[in-house]
Amino acid sequence: MIASTIAARDAVRAMKAYTLELRDAATKLNQNESPFDFPEALKREVLERVAQRPWNVYPEFEATRLRAALAAAYDIPAQSLLAGNGSNELLAAAIATFVEPGRRVAFARPTFALYEKLITIAGGEPLPIDFDPRSGELPLDRLVAAVERDGASVVIVCSPNNPTGGVLARGGIERLLKTGAVVLFDRAYGDFDDDDSLPPPDDRLVVCSTFSKAWGLAALRLGWLCSTPATAAEIRKAKLPYSLNIVSEETAIVALEHRRYRDANVAAIISERERLYAAMRELDGIEPFPSRANFITFRCRDARATFDALCAGGILIRDVSAYPNLDGCLRVSVGTREENDRFLTALENLV
Ligand code: PMP
Repeated sequence: MIASTIAARDAVRAMKAYTLELRDAATKLNQNESPFDFPEALKREVLERVAQRPWNVYPEFEATRLRAALAAAYDIPAQSLLAGNGSNELLAAAIATFVEPGRRVAFARPTFALYEKLITIAGGEPLPIDFDPRSGELPLDRLVAAVERDGASVVIVCSPNNPTGGVLARGGIERLLKTGAVVLFDRAYGDFDDDDSLPPPDDRLVVCSTFSKAWGLAALRLGWLCSTPATAAEIRKAKLPYSLNIVSEETAIVALEHRRYRDANVAAIISERERLYAAMRELDGIEPFPSRANFITFRCRDARATFDALCAGGILIRDVSAYPNLDGCLRVSVGTREENDRFLTALENLV
């Protein structure tokens, strides 16, 4: 057996690889991407600027220009910010900074599967808090209890939560910080929430954001993190150097100079999400969960048959029915008006 000769750590060997069902489909609503591509004129602007820079030397280590642009856009000191190759990279760096063998890390379940993997790789102890996604709220009281009663020293909060769409109650981050725990707040979908403001800085609070969703730049792999200057300096030690390439960095700078595109995309997606949710609620046997993100998760009578039938009709969504607490559930990303209509019509014909 080849596997027996591989000296991988037991913790890694026991893990399942991150997978995604790859299928071709005319209507792709499976990865919570933006349905709106970055404008052609701005792509050209990026390429022109990048062509003028040398490609034979490493990018500037600190991503100083991008961090300055983010600092100005979000009114945060540049020393509190790190930029990286997708927010995944920064989540990994933050978890590597705060999690070690013996440390318990609490998170609501179901949530983004990457957290548990990163905790396990770091040797920490995952402490999943099961909750019912139908309420649209994350289990704040029980996350607090995970720290106060069960000894968690780190809490990971994804709000709005992937894949359920629910959010942490207002003031929840502050309540979690009062427990003394380190709080990693993943706001990958925060731009689609009614309250998209950033919480006040705290040495024990790390906020991860991305350009992959609201900004429509998933292909560029751009994420950023903010905390306080002291905490950012620690996480910087755990992050890979030179991970952000100059094309991505320049793209983010151009995007921030044209924020109106992002604002228009977010407004369109929120309005379509509300329309989609209302229409899905009317369908017999379809139970959509309240969502403040750019996707809607719903329970239906036969998830696999529904998924397959949609696929056969050229509409690819995500089968999340194997996630804990999501039996019978599928997740659809909010697309353009036309894509959403196509999905709704297909679903209506199935139920
Ligand atoms: N956090 C959550 C909750 C996500 O759903 C995703 C992407 N699926 C990410 C982080 C990763 O985003 P990025 O593309 O910036 O790595």
